[in-house]
Amino acid sequence: MLEYYETIIVGGGPAGSSCAWKLKKQGKEALIIDKEAFPRLKLCAGWISSRVMEMLEFTPDEYPHSMLTMHTQLYIAPIPFPVVSSWMLPWRKDYSIRRIEFDHWLLQRSQAPVKTHQVKKIERQGEHYIIDDKYECKYLVGAAGTGCPVRRTFFPDRRVSEKLIVTLEKEFEYPQRNNNTQIFFNDHGLQGYSWYAPKGNGFLNLGLGAVSSYFVQSKTNLHDHFRWFLKDLVKRRLLDEKTSQELKPAGHGFYIFTNQGEVKKDNCFLIGDSAGLATIDLAEGIRASVESGLLAADEILGNSQYTKTKIDKFSLNRVVRWLLRA
Ligand SMILES: Cc1cc2nc3c(=O)[nH]c(=O)nc-3n(C[C@H](O)[C@H](O)[C@H](O)COP(=O)(O)OP(=O)(O)OC[C@H]3O[C@@H](n4cnc5c(N)ncnc54)[C@H](O)[C@@H]3O)c2cc1C
Repeated sequence: MLEYYETIIVGGGPAGSSCAWKLKKQGKEALIIDKEAFPRLKLCAGWISSRVMEMLEFTPDEYPHSMLTMHTQLYIAPIPFPVVSSWMLPWRKDYSIRRIEFDHWLLQRSQAPVKTHQVKKIERQGEHYIIDDKYECKYLVGAAGTGCPVRRTFFPDRRVSEKLIVTLEKEFEYPQRNNNTQIFFNDHGLQGYSWYAPKGNGFLNLGLGAVSSYFVQSKTNLHDHFRWFLKDLVKRRLLDEKTSQELKPAGHGFYIFTNQGEVKKDNCFLIGDSAGLATIDLAEGIRASVESGLLAADEILGNSQYTKTKIDKFSLNRVVRWLLRA
């Protein structure tokens, strides 16, 4: 016997939970299926712009976990001082959250029923979609990140390999961390950036990301760059030597925005990383995930059409982009 829901969302990250939240707000319930039980680990620097909260209609005061206002300094090697600092961009407000807390809270806030199940097989039967011979729906939303099974099944892979961002990241307790978020562009020639991101409750997130093609051209790899990054942090007295030697980062890949590729077909939608929507300049993915989730919900509700063109491709304004050559 199949379990029927009008809408099923595969993936309970920010994209999936935002879509479910919007549907629920308008009186429609969706089932979320995620392979992981929440709270779950998600590799991410955890930077969110204020737009994320505006779209999801909450304020920092309403968020029950730690959220820091970011004081950011952007460096571009070889310039030894910050080229851009938060105080130069008074119109911007950025925050730092821990994804393990944030995603769980968004999922609970959506009030969607959640099943823990890894989706493997999806078929179209007439007007409906059948998932693993267990679940059936009229509207199917793919929100399961880069390897989303909805994408694999219904959307021919038009992803452009030059748009693949590869990363290494580690989040850990480090109460003696510096309070400024520091972003380093072009370090050791990296076509991307590394980050030192303080979190609430004494946590620190370190990582780096770059377009995958850079590593082929430069004959370096992510681990080389991560090692160099840690050494530089020790030199800058942002990290102690012992900790730098013990850190074991993990990696994940995702795609930045391109005009190629569809995000919907019949009653099936791709949102968030499954659609490859992170911003072109800073690879900010959470905002686009939320935005696309809300747009897909709007189309299911019959309010408006979900198209890629409605999603903002950039995080920074033109002047800052020019400064960073991003
Ligand atoms: C190291 C790193 C740092 C980043 N830093 C930032 C940042 O600071 N700010 C920012 O805005 N963006 C950042 N991003 C990008 C951001 O993390 C993503 O764009 C965002 O998480 C995408 O959200 P999503 O909901 O589409 O996917 P996800 O958050 O990845 O959620 C997908 C969900 O689908 C589930 N799933 C996967 N496969 C299946 C399956 N077969 N069946 C059922 N469930 C499945 C997963 O368990 C997961 O819970 C970063 C990315 C990385 C890798």
